[in-house]
Order: sequence, then C-alpha cells, then structure tokens
Amino acid sequence: MWNSIMGKTVVVTGASKGIGKGIARVFAKAGANVAVVSRNFEASENTAKELQGAGGSAEAFVGEVTNLESMQAMAKSVVDTFGGIDILCANAGIFPSSTIELMTAEDWDLVMNTNAKGSLFSIQACLPYLKEAEYGRIILTSSITGPVTGYQGWSHYAASKAAQLGFMKSAALELAGSNITVNAVLPGNIQTEGLEGLRDDYLKKMTNSIPLKRLGTPEDIGYSALFLASKEAGFITAQTIIVDGGQIVPESLDAMV
Ligand code: NAP
Repeated sequence: MWNSIMGKTVVVTGASKGIGKGIARVFAKAGANVAVVSRNFEASENTAKELQGAGGSAEAFVGEVTNLESMQAMAKSVVDTFGGIDILCANAGIFPSSTIELMTAEDWDLVMNTNAKGSLFSIQACLPYLKEAEYGRIILTSSITGPVTGYQGWSHYAASKAAQLGFMKSAALELAGSNITVNAVLPGNIQTEGLEGLRDDYLKKMTNSIPLKRLGTPEDIGYSALFLASKEAGFITAQTIIVDGGQIVPESLDAMV
C-alpha cells in the first residue's frame, strides 16, 4: 500500500545505536537510502553494514550535531553519495542526569546544545537539499519527558525536549512554503542499549507502569517516523505523536491494578 518512502534519501542522526538505529532499520526496510550519522564513523559503519546485509541501501557518515560546519560537510557528502536529501530524522540526543543543586552551567549547555541547538543545526545543514526535494520531511525525536511529564534529575534534559517542540512549531510555519513538514515523535521508555545496565527489578517496575506491559522498541519509534515521512502524511505539520504504550494516561499507578 504505502510505498512513497521507496528511493527517498533519509538522514538519521544518532543512528549508530538505540532509537536512531531502529529508525534507520525501518526506513531501510521501506526502501529508502539511509544516511547513518553519528560522531563515530566506525559505529555508524557497523549500523550501515547491518542494513546493507539485510538488503538495504545505507552508508555511514560522521556528523557532530553541535557543530554546524560538521553537519554541513555531512549533508554535502550525503548528497554526493545519494543525489539529494528528502527526509531528516533529527534524533541524536543525550540524557545525562544531574540534580538542580549540583547542575553546572556546562551540564546545562551540553544538553541544550546537543538536543535543542543540535536540531537547529541538523535542519540548517539539510535545508538547502530538502528544499530541492519533491517534498521535504523533518521528524524530530523529542520525548514525553519535558513536553508531557517531569523526571527528577533530568530538568535540563526535560527543558531541551520541550524546547524542541516550541522550535518545531515555528519551523513548521517557516518551512511550509517550501513544502516541508516538521513533526515530532515523543518516545516513552524504549528498550535501548542504554537500559542494559539497569537492574531487573527496576526494569520490571518500569514495564509494570506501562499499560501495554512492555517497553517500546526502537522500531516502534521508527514506524511512527516512517508514517510522518510518507507522502500520505503530507497534510500533517507541527504535530506530535506520543509512542509510549499508554504510559502517560493513568491518573495514578493505583489505576493500573
Ligand atoms: P543512545 O542509545 O545513547 O544513542 C544516541 C545516538 O546519538 C548515538 O548514535 C550517538 O552516537 C548519537 N549522538 C550523541 N551525541 C551526538 C552528537 N553530539 N552529535 C551526533 N550524534 C550524537 O540514545 P537513545 O536512547 O537512542 O536516544 C535517541 C533519542 O531519543 C534522543 O534524542 C533521546 O532524547 C530520545 N529519547 C530516548 C528515550 C529512550 O527511552 N531511550 C526516550 C525518550 C526520548 P555517538 O555518541 O557515536 O555520536
């Protein structure tokens, strides 16, 4: 049915692992050329090789989202390789924790620079090419943390994820005239490599707080991004999709038993 992704070129930042890798897998399966971007070429290459091994079209690129020149060089290499850029999944992000009492200006700046300013630089680097595409698509990976919920110890992270959404609404208005849509996915708790160190009882507790009784997979986020990137989603802009298994819905955890 939906085959509009076939042959399109997608830049996925933070695709060497975690959610970005899931997004990359889903787009490769749908027939897109996938530019796998992270700061570490070898790690990006491992993902690209995995996608190629499964029959997909993918190449590895280096891009540091806090550095506009680095992102511009990445975008140019992608265009040299695949001929253009149709879709940007601005997904790279970091989530170190710190209490407000201990948080330094450097802690705050690093998180805001990566998650919020990184979205701006990713778009600025890809924009000249997105404008030349038949239609352009930008999908930001935000989070439920910040826009919807709070999490003690992650106030800078929450601020950066809410900032992405304010930015998204104005960006959607600015870019509508260029036939580019800008939307965001808001993941809940997703099973990534980052959770591997957590204790079993903590993971069980986390799973129990989700009505669908499982953590999300990186591919769950990939499929929602794929929909927003499709031709068929062309009348949707400045919107968010929460992908959290219903986690934010219960009024209290008591409502779950
Ligand atoms: P992850 O497993 O730690 O992966 C992060 C990816 O981003 C890696 O590929 C990393 O590669 C890349 N990256 C980090 N800093 C970068 C930078 N400055 N420039 C370029 N690439 C950079 O994280 P994740 O859990 O998949 O999270 C991905 C996104 O989903 C983030 O925006 C996060 O806020 C959001 N999210 C995650 C969850 C969750 O449950 N996991 C929930 C809600 C939202 P290098 O370090 O090699 O560059």
